[in-house]
Amino acid sequence: MFEDNFRKVEPYTPGEQTNDPSVVKINTNECPYPPSPEVEKALKNLDLDKLRLYPQPACNLLVDAIAEVYGLPADQVFVGVGSDDVLSMAFMTFFNSGKPVLFPDITYSFYDVWANLHGVPYKQIPLDKDFNIVKEDYYQENGGIIFPNPNAPTGVLVGLDMIEDILVHNPNRVVIVDEAYIDFGGESALPLIDKYENLLVVQTYSKSRALAGIRIGMAFGSKKLIKYLSDVKFSFNSYTMNTPALVAGAAAIRDKEYFEMTVAKVIKTREWMKEELKKLGFEFRDSMSNFVFATHPKYKAKDILDYLRANKVLVRYFNNPRIDNYLRISVGTDEQANKLIALLKDYIK
Ligand SMILES: *Cc1c(COP(=O)(O)O)cnc(C)c1O
Repeated sequence: MFEDNFRKVEPYTPGEQTNDPSVVKINTNECPYPPSPEVEKALKNLDLDKLRLYPQPACNLLVDAIAEVYGLPADQVFVGVGSDDVLSMAFMTFFNSGKPVLFPDITYSFYDVWANLHGVPYKQIPLDKDFNIVKEDYYQENGGIIFPNPNAPTGVLVGLDMIEDILVHNPNRVVIVDEAYIDFGGESALPLIDKYENLLVVQTYSKSRALAGIRIGMAFGSKKLIKYLSDVKFSFNSYTMNTPALVAGAAAIRDKEYFEMTVAKVIKTREWMKEELKKLGFEFRDSMSNFVFATHPKYKAKDILDYLRANKVLVRYFNNPRIDNYLRISVGTDEQANKLIALLKDYIK
């Protein structure tokens, strides 16, 4: 059969999207607020004749804006079509030793998909019973290390001391810290990139910067790591980023005030949500992200999921070992959080 020679992969399943505005959509950790008004201005001012031309291959407009805001040289910044694109390219670029790449057993469920796609062997390291990363587990021989901080979907944050410890024990391997949720209360590993040439820090516009729809992700690292990553990108597709994305992304990153205000609102609602969920008997690790990963000792997560869905509230459920009695609930607006809590109060009597 000619199909015998096709590449067969098990794809990642993204969270459900909906166009129904009456649905409270708190299932995919998007920002509940619109992007910075500067994005609207920039896109309105975009000269459409520019779309006739190819976009900047090196994405200078965006890279320079990010470099300026983060106080880094431009050759330590890499951008891609969402951090998914950046991470997939990082797997291709850095994880070729033939030895297993290490990541937690409970983590972002795209990692094993990319490993399989790119033919990278991997080993999933169990988190402890409270969902903590055990740093000593990362001292073993490996072909690279990747984990989100805070971890997803647990929301558990680790300190820079632990990240440094893992870096010190793996000087000859690339360590990737996926900081998709770092802006919601964690300390970024960004200051460590000049001390550790093997550290790649990845962030995204999709959560804290309210632009999941425009697809921008970024990586920060030593000039060496960024050069290798760029070489792979230019061997793959010179024009990953389109001109409207470059323009919108540059405008968004420069509006620090709006960014800080939006993030503060999400954190405030999260803290209120945590209190209310606790009162209802839910149990969860303290989340430093824009979601809460909660379980209830008396009610099945799957039943709560179905009940919420019947009442037009979407949350995320993972039918995976160890976490199949948990719900990942994104922090929405106050209004959305109120509706969620009111429904749960009715359910848990
Ligand atoms: C959302 C998420 C990403 C991907 O985000 P993009 O939209 O592709 O930028 C990457 N890692 C983790 C842990 C995430 O939760």
